[in-house]
Amino acid sequence: MQQPRLTIIVPCYDEEEVLPTSSKVLGTIIQKLIQSDQINRDSKVLFVDDGSTDKTWPIIKNLERQSKIFCGLKFSRNFGHQNALMAGMKVAGATSDAVITIDADLQDDPQVIPEMVARFKAGNDVVLGVRNDRSSDSHFKRWTAETFYGMMRKIGVQLVPDHADFRLLSQRAVDALMEYSETNLFLRGIVPQLGFPTTKLYYRRKPRMAGKSKYPLKKMIAFAMDGITSFSIAPIKAILSVGVLISGVSLLMMIFALVQHLLGNTVDGWASLMTSLWFLGGMQLIGISIVGEYVGKIFAEVKRRPRYIIETDDYTATQQPAVLN
Ligand code: UDP
Ligand code: MG
Repeated sequence: MQQPRLTIIVPCYDEEEVLPTSSKVLGTIIQKLIQSDQINRDSKVLFVDDGSTDKTWPIIKNLERQSKIFCGLKFSRNFGHQNALMAGMKVAGATSDAVITIDADLQDDPQVIPEMVARFKAGNDVVLGVRNDRSSDSHFKRWTAETFYGMMRKIGVQLVPDHADFRLLSQRAVDALMEYSETNLFLRGIVPQLGFPTTKLYYRRKPRMAGKSKYPLKKMIAFAMDGITSFSIAPIKAILSVGVLISGVSLLMMIFALVQHLLGNTVDGWASLMTSLWFLGGMQLIGISIVGEYVGKIFAEVKRRPRYIIETDDYTATQQPAVLN
């Protein structure tokens, strides 16, 4: 029987410190799977260079020269992690029976890849890597992640807790994913919506082996905001409830003030006036900014800009049949 062709997709943004090690680890895993006849000989590790400014691309080119297992895709500039994953899946999806996405720093345990492949062969289209232990993450990272997953659950977005972007997708799952044409992508929210036979695979998350996290707090907040506003209009609804509540309270205040006035009590109105003025002003600004967030999203979507621009695509180049002169 023909074994499935697998492509492991690795987004890389300034990862010169970790690439030599992670390429070795991933290469060995693929080689072992090929040798034990678990996967097709044309299986590959595809590095997507997301506009790195360090030696990431030369390292990838070097790996290409070393073995035909490795190949690279280079963006013209930094387009972000999610877009790097999409590009890798788009490019490799057509010629691979399954793809696995994994971070370059190998915080997600690559040793479970053979098990992912086994589960794919058992008939699963989607195998989600789920961390069963976050002790390697800082307290702050853990706390922000928990708050985020909790909030998403509350507003009704189906997320698999502690599943990030380490997963296997079958070819038809990738095809289905490509149908989602939105510019603002939040993969871990979309993948559970695909359906298809899905299974979870638990693993231990390790600390980053070298280099710094490419997700500083600012990027993390932007990512979370994107996740919320791409999937839910709960924040807009929340403004409505707060608005109704405040209007109700101000009505009561009006009655109270009127009664005081009729009773002839002189009320020093300055304090209450100022408080309500500031309070309402604040509420309005929050409301407008949330609505603005959605308007901005619509603006970005209607422009239909490309998610990414590829500068070099060595994967597709290797897939083409040789031209005979
Ligand atoms: N990454 C990327 N583009 C970016 C930021 C990150 O391709 O703009 C890649 C990065 O090289 C890594 C993965 O996304 O392979 C996850 O990033 P990182 O490990 O820094 O995030 P953390 O694990 O700290 O959340
Ligand atoms: Mg990491």
